[in-house]
Amino acid sequence: MNFTFSPEEERFRSEVRVFLAEKNPNRGEKIGSDIESSLARLPQLLAWNQALYDKHWVGFNWPQRYGGGGGGLIEQMILKEECAKDHAPILGLSYMGLAWVGPGLIKYGTEEQKQRFIPPILKAEEHWCTGYSEPGAGSDLASLQCKAERDGDHYVINGQKIWTSLASWAQWMILLVRTDLSAPKHLGMSCLLVPMDAEGMEVRPIKVMSGETPFAEIFFNDVRVPIENRLGEEGQGWDVTKTALANERSSIAEVTALQHNLEDLKDLARRCRIGGRAAIEDSSVRSRLAKLDCTIEAMRLSGLRFLTKQLRGEPIGAETSVNKLLRAQVEVEMGRLGCDIEGSAGRLLKGPHGMDVGAKWQKHMLGWPTTVIGGGTPNIQKNVIAERILGLPHDV
Ligand SMILES: Cc1cc2nc3c(=O)[nH]c(=O)nc-3n(C[C@H](O)[C@H](O)[C@H](O)COP(=O)(O)OP(=O)(O)OC[C@H]3O[C@@H](n4cnc5c(N)ncnc54)[C@H](O)[C@@H]3O)c2cc1C
Repeated sequence: MNFTFSPEEERFRSEVRVFLAEKNPNRGEKIGSDIESSLARLPQLLAWNQALYDKHWVGFNWPQRYGGGGGGLIEQMILKEECAKDHAPILGLSYMGLAWVGPGLIKYGTEEQKQRFIPPILKAEEHWCTGYSEPGAGSDLASLQCKAERDGDHYVINGQKIWTSLASWAQWMILLVRTDLSAPKHLGMSCLLVPMDAEGMEVRPIKVMSGETPFAEIFFNDVRVPIENRLGEEGQGWDVTKTALANERSSIAEVTALQHNLEDLKDLARRCRIGGRAAIEDSSVRSRLAKLDCTIEAMRLSGLRFLTKQLRGEPIGAETSVNKLLRAQVEVEMGRLGCDIEGSAGRLLKGPHGMDVGAKWQKHMLGWPTTVIGGGTPNIQKNVIAERILGLPHDV
């Protein structure tokens, strides 16, 4: 692997640093990444999105004719890396819109869909949620039952979705439904773009153990959606969804975010004391920090390998499950280590004893399902690695 950057790429890195020095709303502050903190700072975050949009840095490598940057993948990586290093908010606010709805629209959308949906994602004017999981179809997503039947120039949707993140804030949902009950289960599905205010749609928020309501269950009772809201061909829903999930599992920027958290942990270990001396002197703490450091570096190198494949025009697929699996392990261990270093204060969510801003590590601990289960559980990642990378048989 060649790790050197060209003079143009280095110039771009300098430009990003100058921009961040002026516009990064998080500069010099340690800010929680939970929903409450983000909502409290919405005006600053919208101004940040606008500043990025004006530079054509939201949707960095998306086509310019829809408002994207038309840029290269290496520059995009540099941008994400510098933003993460500077503790800047994520690039663009329409998280799911940018992560997989937009890429799905670019790959499978009609010209009208691209013109209608891509600009509001980039400008953070419209937010998306993802309707895949159902009470009986999570890991085995292809067993889903929510169905859409053709009635003239509309689909009529009936059924239920669950664990729909950010459903209460979204204006649109990318929905995976069964459109052909007689076809083999992976072939009978289609993707629909559904407005959240459609008649017959009910959103019931779900409260989680940290007290937040980050997701909802959704009920569809004869919800009508025009056929031009279908993304891809009828029956192509599984391909569209696979593209989305590969995007969810391949993010390089999140490695820099993990490096940040590791630095915060080291800093915490310098400030807290275990057995009468700084926690950073404790051999068990040092060994756990070192293990995290090595795993994150391995993830960074894998991320660069994915980038190289993308630059060569090769698809990335099953291998992203390795980083998804490692990330889950790293995130859980970080929360545990942070709370262990804080000692008895590490067990408190509120009160005077928290050692780090906003009960950071306690919330990290309680938020483990986000990174462990969301986007596919560790067992499923192991199945993918076993079958599609190592070539092990499906049934033993
Ligand atoms: C924070 C968070 C956000 C989410 N956001 C969304 C969202 O926005 N939209 C959406 O559609 N869904 C979302 N989900 C749902 C998520 O995709 C599912 O929870 C996940 O796919 C697991 O499905 P399940 O909960 O039905 O568990 P199940 O599939 O029932 O799994 C239960 C257990 O069985 C294991 N298991 C299942 N099948 C196998 C197998 N073949 N081999 C080995 N072990 C197996 C699993 O690993 C797990 O431990 C979110 C989940 C979380 C936690």
